[in-house]
Amino acid sequence: MLKTINNFDLKNKRVLIRVDFNVPLEDGVVTDDFRIRMALPTINKCLDSGASVVIMSHLGRPKGQVKPELSLIPVGEKLAELVELPVKFSDDCVSEDARDVSLGLMPGEIHLLENLRFYNEETDNDPKFSELLAKHGEIFINDAFGTAHRPHASNVGVSKYFLYKGIGYLFEKELQYLSTVIKKPERPMTIVLGGAKIDTKLKLINKFIDEADNIIIGGGMAFTFLKAMGMDVGGSLVEESMLKTAKTIIEKSEKMRKKINFPIDVVAAKSIDDKDNVKEYKMEAIPKDLAGFDIGEDTITQFSKVLMNSKTIIWNGPMGVFEKEVFNAGTLAIAKVMSEAKENGSVVIVGGGDTAAAVKKYSMIDKMSHVSTGGGASLELLSGNRLPSVEALEG
Ligand code: AMP
Repeated sequence: MLKTINNFDLKNKRVLIRVDFNVPLEDGVVTDDFRIRMALPTINKCLDSGASVVIMSHLGRPKGQVKPELSLIPVGEKLAELVELPVKFSDDCVSEDARDVSLGLMPGEIHLLENLRFYNEETDNDPKFSELLAKHGEIFINDAFGTAHRPHASNVGVSKYFLYKGIGYLFEKELQYLSTVIKKPERPMTIVLGGAKIDTKLKLINKFIDEADNIIIGGGMAFTFLKAMGMDVGGSLVEESMLKTAKTIIEKSEKMRKKINFPIDVVAAKSIDDKDNVKEYKMEAIPKDLAGFDIGEDTITQFSKVLMNSKTIIWNGPMGVFEKEVFNAGTLAIAKVMSEAKENGSVVIVGGGDTAAAVKKYSMIDKMSHVSTGGGASLELLSGNRLPSVEALEG
């Protein structure tokens, strides 16, 4: 059975916690501490219970090389500021020196290990490396949801060396929303898909054609479906290699009598940097030399109606190129409707890196039921798949 941090007596124990401190850095300073803050409930629970903690994380993609610009030193400084305690730091995650620092920790002390991915053994899930990591703690807690779908040494391999192991609060909340809630959703349930790449969301589309009551497809990926239905979408983004798949999905939805809601109008321009020709067009009237970069007013109205009648909403993928102000309105409007739906009692679950970034940009994280911190892991869970790091903790 999967245990959580609440299942353990933590007093005078050394707890090894895998976190996701893969935060953005600029000139050696953390520019967004969201992921560090998300891990604080678990860290504080250990400290308040009289445990010491050893924290491990990856940062960026050093690919097995020691890259000073990807050192966790600035992250340790930020963590110390947030917990208002000193943080011991080791410049190697598996050295004897690092292990000795961990063994010498007193209750209430924190030890941060250097970037796990300075070793290829981490991503290779190397058993010897896992064993060395395991020497840092007596209890293992995985709170790194962002890497939960990857079988690495610090989340999968390491688990085998612990009798006492489980998940932290952040991980628990992710599982609760992305797995438990959608197993028995309040209906109607609506899935909203957007973004640019269909192939990464195929599993989601297939699952939710079976399980959702309403399907909304916006963003760049809508154009591949519209073209597959024979529509002329001008210069809009079309994944030619996915046209056949898109057609199959549409046919399946028709057979199941489940309507997919596509955009009926768009905000189009010559390119994402073109500010002079930005204009709304009916979908069937997009000029040949323009491309759709956001959903239009009528689409917002149509999608909003569906959303306001939904009791469970799952959102993955922005409605347009929200990074550019002129193409941001559709994603913002849909986020607002979702926050209203949540206020009226619906469950709103947001997954995927770009969608979470949009919600964050609008300062609406607290207005959704749950905004997932992990793109790939949330896709796996929403698609109904198991996570290797969870299976490792159950074994
Ligand atoms: P994805 O990784 O598939 O979720 O795609 C996210 C990206 O899709 C964001 O960076 C958006 O800017 C982009 N996007 C959304 N709508 C469009 C569109 N109509 N045309 C091109 N890119 C888009």
